[in-house]
Amino acid sequence: MDMDQADEFADYLEHPRFGRGPRLTDLEPLDNWGWQYLASGPERIPHTGVRADPERHVNTFHYAVEYYFDLRRVCRDCGRKFIFFAEEQKHWYEDLQLPLHADAVRCVGCRKAERGIAWLRQRYEELLAMTSRTAEETLELVGAGLTLVDEGLFGFRVLEHMRAILKSVPSGTDGADEMRGRADDLLARVQAPNF
Ligand SMILES: [Zn+2]
Repeated sequence: MDMDQADEFADYLEHPRFGRGPRLTDLEPLDNWGWQYLASGPERIPHTGVRADPERHVNTFHYAVEYYFDLRRVCRDCGRKFIFFAEEQKHWYEDLQLPLHADAVRCVGCRKAERGIAWLRQRYEELLAMTSRTAEETLELVGAGLTLVDEGLFGFRVLEHMRAILKSVPSGTDGADEMRGRADDLLARVQAPNF
């Protein structure tokens, strides 16, 4: 890649597998009508073509996608620039069999964080459904609830619920005071005039 191109991608997020800059393959099909590609236009990085296998696609548009290209993206969560790599697309649409309209809207880090949050929410529901909980489980439940409030998934009511549950844990129990501190901090933050 030439220097201009290296500079252009200097502020892109580094992908754990593919690195920072585009993966040049020198494959740039001459036909530029665009309909055998997933994307044309400025998001497409030239000379990064990877041949697709349309037979492995679970759905098609009204045309077969024959090439993938590295695509410029901006993460919806953290706002940073990243590349949705052609090789990644091949993996998504051929190995994982994701539909062709599935797009990478988040960077790898934020996708991982989102999965972590999904897991945390599932654990929260599990703990909440238990008929009796040890002090440790109660604290785990409260910790999960507070994190989910912090992440904006749960609102003020859940925070109040977590504070009520915390009251059942004797002070002096390992971690209980820390949870109270976290709950108070969150409460202070959400006590805006509209509450
Ligand atoms: Zn991100």
